[in-house]
Amino acid sequence: FMLTILKEFFLNISIILFPVFMYPFFHRTDNRLVYNRTLYFFFFSLAIVFAMSLPINIHGLIFDFRAIPLTIGSLYGGFHVSCALYAVLLLFRYLQNNPNQLVYAVSLLPTLLIVYFYIRRYMALGLRHKMIAAATLFLAIRVFSLVSYTALNDGIASLIDAKYVSTFFIMVFQSVVCALYVLLFERLRSVLYIQQEVINSEKIKIVSDIAASVAHEIRNPLTSVRGFIQLLGEERLDEGKRGFYEKICLEELDRAQLIISDYLTLAKPGLETNEPIEIGAEIGYIRNILLSYANYQNVEIVCGVEDEPLWIAGDKYKFRQALINIGKNAIEAMKGEGVLDISVSEHNGRIAIQISDTGVGMTADQIARLGTPYYSTKEKGTGLGTMVSFSIIKNMNGTIRVQSKVGKGTKYVLSFPRAEAPAQTAAGADGG
Ligand code: ADP
Ligand code: MG
Repeated sequence: FMLTILKEFFLNISIILFPVFMYPFFHRTDNRLVYNRTLYFFFFSLAIVFAMSLPINIHGLIFDFRAIPLTIGSLYGGFHVSCALYAVLLLFRYLQNNPNQLVYAVSLLPTLLIVYFYIRRYMALGLRHKMIAAATLFLAIRVFSLVSYTALNDGIASLIDAKYVSTFFIMVFQSVVCALYVLLFERLRSVLYIQQEVINSEKIKIVSDIAASVAHEIRNPLTSVRGFIQLLGEERLDEGKRGFYEKICLEELDRAQLIISDYLTLAKPGLETNEPIEIGAEIGYIRNILLSYANYQNVEIVCGVEDEPLWIAGDKYKFRQALINIGKNAIEAMKGEGVLDISVSEHNGRIAIQISDTGVGMTADQIARLGTPYYSTKEKGTGLGTMVSFSIIKNMNGTIRVQSKVGKGTKYVLSFPRAEAPAQTAAGADGG
């Protein structure tokens, strides 16, 4: 008998934890309200429905865990989700053909008001207070609805009954489960949050590494503009030469401006999106950013891109971050001289991006460790760059192949599914 109880109990725990299992696979860190709410609604209403379908029965004392997903889902999903979860609960109870549907609804619905006041404060609380808040909210919902349901059905007097003592203990026990649920969920959320922070901090690292070379790149045009302005100041200068000097000055200043604006969009935070990316334009942008860095390290860059515009899907800024790190590693591997070759080709509905360098190369062991955190052979390396790049690429349904020979060089081949071109040709509307 104990075993059956235990079995039912574990089954119910897994049911209410179902949203926790699913959450990491579907969550998005950007603030997409509708997406996140739908997600919460979907997972927690499934948990409610299953919890209601498989109640626990101890010696005729029947109870289930429906109020836990109701509480947690409401607290994290917000008031809209909370209303929807209440609706699902009532609807499912109706479909189950339970008696006293109206009384049940009347005794449950006022708790929505309690939920409403809890939600407004909840997210600002610390972990311990969140646990306490969730447990008390759970108790409040349960006690209120139980008391009003019984009172409405059988009169106030019937509340003084021995069977409610055990019901009360079960409720206290469940509210502890509720608090532990919050602990688990908060831990999970913070792990996912830290993962996102690693991506962001790696981006800041790239931005700061490239800053020195950008500054260097801007100094060149400024110096030459200065020289030409000095020449323009000379008295006996014929019109032809004057025009020529002016043209060079403007060109050099435009170049400096381009470098600065490219650099700024690299540093820009940007919300996560999933949009069509035109590979040619992006490779052009990435090349520009890497060019400053390459010039700084005496490396040459060659690019081969097909004429036809090719599209893949993903987040443009993340994609840039992924490729810039791979390119940056390649440049760093060449230590002084070499050629970085970036080329794009299309084959069987997939788009391949090849990034090859003539640098120090890697052994098979080193290749195997690529993408694992904190693996770095550089004095100031973080060993997070390839990990972040690989995770971005995999998120875009891309694959990565690395070939390398020690002393000869390394070749990265990234392959992405080809995407449809967007309806209106927005190409060039936002090239960087
Ligand atoms: P970091 O660049 O901070 O060291 P990464 O994760 O970007 O961290 O790279 C990890 C390691 O992988 C590098 O330290 C380097 O040893 C090796 N590596 C990555 N790309 C190349 C490459 N193109 N050629 C040689 N070694 C590479
Ligand atoms: Mg790196």
